[in-house]
This record gives sequence, structure tokens and C-alpha cells, in this order.
Amino acid sequence: MPETSDFLQNNLDAVEKLLEKAKDAEHKDTSEALKLSLEALSIAKKHHYIKQEAKADMRIGRCHWINGNFKEAIDFLSKSLKISDKINDAYTKVDALIGLGNVYVTIEILDQAISQYMKALTISKDNGFGELESKILNNIGTMHEDLKNYPVALDYYQKSLDKTLEIEDTYGQAIAYLNIGNVYFSLNDMDKSEENFHLALNYGRENDKSLLLAHCYYSLGRLHHKRGDVPLSKKYLELGIEKANESKDLYILFRILSEYADIYDQLKDYNQAHSFYQKALDVAKQIGMDELMPRFYEQVAHFYEKNNKLDLAYESYKLYNQAYKIVEENRRLERINSLEYQEKLKASLEETRIYRQLSNELRKSYQQMHVLSNIGQAMTSTHQLDLIFEQLYENVNLLMNAESLGVGLFDEESKALRFDLFIERGKLLDPFSLSLENKKSWSVWSFLNKEVVKINDIEKEYKRYIAAFASTRGDLMHSAMYAPLMVEGEVIGVFSIQAKEKNAYTDTHQDLLTTLSSYLAIAIKNATKTKQLAELNQKLKILSENDGLTSIPNRRLYDDVFSKLWMKAINQSEPLSIMMVDIDNFKDFNDHYGHLIGDEVIKKVAHLLNEHRRNENDFVARYGGDEFVIILPNCDIDEAEVYAKELQVKLAEISDNLEVTEPVTISIGLCTTQPNSKKSKDIFVSIADNQLYISKENGKNCVSSSTY
Ligand code: GH3
Ligand code: MG
Repeated sequence: MPETSDFLQNNLDAVEKLLEKAKDAEHKDTSEALKLSLEALSIAKKHHYIKQEAKADMRIGRCHWINGNFKEAIDFLSKSLKISDKINDAYTKVDALIGLGNVYVTIEILDQAISQYMKALTISKDNGFGELESKILNNIGTMHEDLKNYPVALDYYQKSLDKTLEIEDTYGQAIAYLNIGNVYFSLNDMDKSEENFHLALNYGRENDKSLLLAHCYYSLGRLHHKRGDVPLSKKYLELGIEKANESKDLYILFRILSEYADIYDQLKDYNQAHSFYQKALDVAKQIGMDELMPRFYEQVAHFYEKNNKLDLAYESYKLYNQAYKIVEENRRLERINSLEYQEKLKASLEETRIYRQLSNELRKSYQQMHVLSNIGQAMTSTHQLDLIFEQLYENVNLLMNAESLGVGLFDEESKALRFDLFIERGKLLDPFSLSLENKKSWSVWSFLNKEVVKINDIEKEYKRYIAAFASTRGDLMHSAMYAPLMVEGEVIGVFSIQAKEKNAYTDTHQDLLTTLSSYLAIAIKNATKTKQLAELNQKLKILSENDGLTSIPNRRLYDDVFSKLWMKAINQSEPLSIMMVDIDNFKDFNDHYGHLIGDEVIKKVAHLLNEHRRNENDFVARYGGDEFVIILPNCDIDEAEVYAKELQVKLAEISDNLEVTEPVTISIGLCTTQPNSKKSKDIFVSIADNQLYISKENGKNCVSSSTY
């Protein structure tokens, strides 16, 4: 039956309705939104509603982005972009470009991100899409905020706010206030931060926007936590949890739970902190967003380490390592994807057409962003410091005149800035250090004051910063900029560039330098972290395998080693002996002399056993309490018995040196076997255990043995 136009219209309405619903559901219930837009897509395709197909693709792509499926996200958004371009649907095109920009920001391919946003911005301006324009400005702001480029972020948020005020978009205003508040929070301006949060909050309350409210409460909770008002902070976070649940947004719920855990951690309430970390972890797993995990595991690991829960710390660091690798791998794959996509785009005329449309100012900032993000990408994709420096020097001159360039890192021991990298006109200078006492150094000034310095005529301007004029290293450079390298509020070094000519640097150059230094700081931090992590893992491994009191191996390592030695004895057809050693009447020592002296006795016995191994293949561990276990590879029963008695004699010899009057003695249970695959390790141990029991029954301070 042929379709009538009425029928078509009804279907069209249905698709539009589905798309409208999907848009509403996007952040509240992403899987519902995905379902609705897939349904819309299938109807649209069936009836050739091209415009709606593009819209559905766009929405599906956005949902995939929220769910962390970046490849699918890029596929659908690109498809939407292609269709909407063909039929000249500017609105959907902008939506798709924003979506793509968002994906690229999330996977940190920033040149792609900024390129999509800039295109979206131009089209929005041309078509008077004020709402979208403010959204894009806002997103660019967020990108800069993530890069800790706060002044620039603030600038974009302010532009976004201006736009929303102009078009009376009150929801957009609230978002802008929230973002501005967050930047002030990062800049430590608590009063301005609070003021902006409340502006956003008021709107959220009046209009009952639960997701916005969840974010506002979370931000206020963090703010009061930072101010030290714990009760108020908890109150806001509590409200935040309520709204997060209402809006079904797991991401903000996760953030709130982590913040809660952090509060309890600072209150030294281990149990509560632990419980909130677990809750946050559960939520994070539900979100399934790989990107979230490394930082979280790292935070949790620090927490456990601080609280001396080394087992848990060790586990968390392992998870951190794994998560980190997954994220790196995802990024690598996405980069490949994005390169392919980029090639396709370049092939089309689209790119050049849009590029021509950009105003001069935008084009310049587009180019700079492009170079900047290339540098950032190159630097952050390696964990080797020398390569990072190389990338930096090779690229920085594309942005500004930098005849000399130096990176000084703070060295804790010498309390000085160490410049391993200082390049002048392509030549690497020998490393040198600048003491923090040095009052004539701009680098030191910038480091100590955590401020960027920009000088365009060095002989005239020095007075503002330093005590006396001293020539810069090498040739006299008239212009110079210095930027502190900041990682999470802490300054780790200084980055400087210099030029021979006067007036080489503008405010834009200063902004660029600031952004570059945040890239550099992140790259340096990653590089040192990789190294530290390896060291830490080694340390944790030792801690997790050795007994805290005696420093000899613990039961965990014993389990490992015992299995290996058992297998080795099977393979080499050698006898194996095991000894259970227990201090006699140890309870009495404790009762008599107290626990501290008791501890000393345990330590002395442990050392004695460990020091007097027959050779390095013997293995001694603390089995628990006052009991030890010794594994003796290639040792038959006669040798083992002689050796056991020797140990008792040795102990008697040192017993006088102990701070106890009665002699310290040990009972020993011994078992020897010729291991084979039919025998059980556990039975072997239990026979030795039983022999120990017999020694105790026989009046202690003696050896009993048996074979298996
Ligand atoms: P027996 O001769 O039958 O072994 O008698 P005992 O008193 O040694 O009894 P048992 O081995 O069952 O008890 C061991 C005691 O060792 C119990 C516990 O109070 C004490 N202990 C366990 N670990 C430590 C420790 O790390 N430091 C101290 N000071 N005492 C410990
Ligand atoms: Mg005992």
C-alpha cells in the first residue's frame, strides 16, 4: 500500500518527538536516550527523513561519548556532520561539531578539539545561533581549565556568560556562573568562587534542575572543605548526593563520594574514608569510564599508604598501573583513528572552506592552538625527559621568538634550580644551578613568587623583580619571559625563553607561554611519576613480603618460596626438609617483662635463625606470633637433625645477651621428604607441625622429627 502524505507526517512527528525526548534524557538517563535515538534513526532511515537521520546520528554519537565509547562516538558524529553538511542543516552541523570537539577533549587530542570548536563557533556566529555559541565558548573555556590555563579559561567563560545574558538564556547563565566559580576556586579566590556558585545555585533551585544542583552542591561542598568548615561541607555534599541520585548522573555522584572520602581522610577517620572510597569505586566501575580510574586509584593508594595499610596500597598501585596502561592504550588507538579521520576531512573541501571563513584573529589563534596542541601531544606522549625537552625546543619557535630557552627544575637537596636544559641559538649549554638565595635571578624570582615574568627591555625593567641587574647567560637578551612550572598548586621549576630584540613578547605570547608551561609541567610530572612508580612498586613489594617487626620474610613470601622449592625438589629429585620453630613459654616472657622486651626476643631469635642458614638456598620466615618456619632444600633427615640441634646451641649462646634472666629456648618439629607429584605439600607441613607439638609435649627445648 502506498504511503499517504498524512502517514508520512505522522511518522515525521513521531521521529521528532523521539529526538526531543532523547535530548532531554541525554544526561539523566543516557541508555534511555540512546534507545530513543536509535529508534528515531531507524524510522528516519526507513522513510528517508535525511534531516532527522543527521540529528539522530548526532544524538547517538553524544550518548556514546557520555558512555565513554569514543570510537562509536566519532563514527556517528562524523556521519551526522557529513549528512548535515550535504543538506545545509547548519544547526545539526554545529551540534555534531561540538560533539566531536567534546570527544577530542576527553581523549586529549586537543588540536582536533579546538579545530572542531572553532568551526562550530564560526557557523554559529554566521547563523545567529546564540545558544550554541555560548555553549562552544563554554567548552573552550573548560578545555583551558583542564589545562590549568585559568586566566584564559575565565576569559572564555566570561564571553559565554555575556552571550547568554544577551540572548536571555538563563540555564546557560547558570552553567557559566558555575564554571566561573570553579575557576576562582582553582585560583584560590574563595569569595568570588562562592558568589558565583550561589548565582548558579539560585537558578537551579528556582527551576528544579537536579543535575545542575548536584554540581552546585558538590562545588560548594568542596569550597567549604577547602575553607575548613567540615560540617557545612558535609551538608552540601549530602544534598549533592540526593540530587545526583535524582538526576541519575553517576559521574557527579562519583565525584561527591570521592570528596567525602577525602574529608574523612583528613579527619583521620580511617573507617569512614575507607568506606566512601569503596562506594566511589563501585560507582566508578558502573560508569565504566577508563579515563577516571588512574587518578582515583592513585589517590586511594596514597590514602592506604598513609594509613599503613600496605597490602591495600600495594593492590591499589597495581590497579593504578593497569588502569594507566589501559588509558594510554585507548589514547593510542584513538590517535590512530583520529589521524584517519583527519585525512578524510582534509581530502574534502570542507576544511579549507571553513578555514577561509575564520576571521583573521580566529585564524591566528587557531594556528597557535594547533601548534600548541601539537607540542603538548608530542611532549605528553613520551615519558623521557630529554625527548620532552627536545620536542619543546623544536616547536616553540613556531609560536614566538625564542633564541634561548631553558628549563630549570627545583632540586630539593641543593635548594637550587637545576638547568639541565638551556639552549642558546641551537647550542646546548653545560648544566648549571641557580641557588634560591640568588637575588639577581628572574628565574628564581618567578619560581619563588609563582608568577609569570614578561620583560621587553631588560635593562630598564629589572628593578621590578630583582635586586641588581645581571646579564642573562651568554649573549645579552633584551626580552625574556619566565613562567613557573606548576603541578597541582605546587611549583616544581621554571621555564624561560629569551630573545635578543627588544619588545619581542606580547600578552598573547605570555598566554602561550603559560599554556606551554602547563603542558611541560604535566609532561615532567608524568616522566618522574613513571620512575617513582617503579621505585615505589619495588618498595611496596619488599614491604609486602617482609615481616614488619623482624624484617625477615613473612608468611606470604613463604607460601611463594615454599611452592617453588617444592617444585625444584621434584625436578631435581632432591630431599627437602622443613622445620617448625616455636619459642618456649613465650607468654610468660611477655607477662613478666612486657611486650616490648618480648618483641626484642622475637627479633633476636629471627635474626639468629636467618643469620645461621646453612647456605643462601635455605629459607627462613616468620610463620606468625613466636613461630618460625625454615625450609632446607637438598637436606636429608640426618643433616636436618644435626642442624636443628646446632640452632638450639647457638640460641643458648646468645641467650645471655638478652634482657631476660631465664634462658630463651626453642622447640623444633622437623619433617623430611623426597617430594614427588603425588605427595601433598600441606601434609608435609602438618607432619612438621605435629612434630613440634610432640617436642612441646616432651618438655620443650628439644627436636622431634619424622619423614613423609
Ligand atoms: P609454648 O611453649 O607452648 O609455645 O608456650 P607459649 O607461651 O610460647 O605459647 P604460644 O606459642 O601459644 O603463644 C605465643 C605468644 O606469643 C602469644 C602472644 O601473646 C605472643 N606473641 C605473639 N606475637 C607477638 C609479638 O609480635 N610480640 C610479642 N611481644 N608477643 C607476641
Ligand atoms: Mg611459643
